[in-house]
Amino acid sequence: MRRKKHTQGRSSITVHRTGCGGRRAAVFFAPTQSMGAGLWLFRPHKSTFPDSALQAFPWFSRSLAPRSRLQLTRMNAARFEFHADLNDFLPRGPRFRPLEVRFRESPSVKHLIEACGVPHPEVALIRINGAVVDFSAPVHDGDRVEVLPISALPAGAASPLENQPEGEVRFILDLHLGRLAVYLRILGFDSLYRNDYEDEELARTAGEQGRVLLTRDQRLLMRSQVRYGYWVRALDPQEQIVEVISRYRLAGQVKPFHRCLRCNTRLQPVEKKAVLERLEPLTRRYYHEFRRCPQCDQIFWKGSHYERMQALVDRVLALDGKRPSA
Ligand SMILES: [Zn+2]
Repeated sequence: MRRKKHTQGRSSITVHRTGCGGRRAAVFFAPTQSMGAGLWLFRPHKSTFPDSALQAFPWFSRSLAPRSRLQLTRMNAARFEFHADLNDFLPRGPRFRPLEVRFRESPSVKHLIEACGVPHPEVALIRINGAVVDFSAPVHDGDRVEVLPISALPAGAASPLENQPEGEVRFILDLHLGRLAVYLRILGFDSLYRNDYEDEELARTAGEQGRVLLTRDQRLLMRSQVRYGYWVRALDPQEQIVEVISRYRLAGQVKPFHRCLRCNTRLQPVEKKAVLERLEPLTRRYYHEFRRCPQCDQIFWKGSHYERMQALVDRVLALDGKRPSA
């Protein structure tokens, strides 16, 4: 009985702007029916707000308690519903339940979505009181806000927010995703990667070149330059490549053996006789099709490394029953 009550309960987020410029936001998650931090903010008198509570939460005491509680009582509230895998960004408590988000004035819906922890590139559709809106739409007291990822839209439906890349999908990856970058190149996808990229360079390059930023850093996706991006959920590189191919529906665009694994340059066919002197005896004997990278001069052939990757390629292609492009 107690569990049933818990799962039916709503949760609350208080968004309170702090610091210089008002850009940072403190977010509290607390079940509305409990006496969590979200409700404590609204206790009106010091006599009902024991000093022991402030001592137990020194950060709360320093940053919020000195502010006027009368200001906090003027906060507006809206109900947010995050759909499908957008719940991955919420703490476990409020997942898959409506959230009450409290705020001052009428901030943009993008600001409130990201204050809840959900990066804007992950969002494909927003409705306020049933009407489709863009990121700049203001949220007012009493609004009902629905936030959907691309996976919650019908297959093939375009995002009205236009944050899904059109045409050839190209990637740039953060330094934690080196193996994923190699797998993407093996499958023929244009994928920039360096292990010394700074966050600023990643975000700027993604924005300027219209690349999808793949990252394990949720905060990086919240940078305003990033238009296309995805937070890779899996930790295992082979699970990651399946996740990314599925997310961007790329199984039909797989072109193995077309891109340099070292430098990402598109490979060119080369005659066997032109590279014969560079081949080991067994390679010379058993392989007849070669490609060369015009940038770094590396030679590739469908050898043992390619054969080991074939199982992964087959798994990716099975995502929608496609065969690789020629
Ligand atoms: Zn190369």
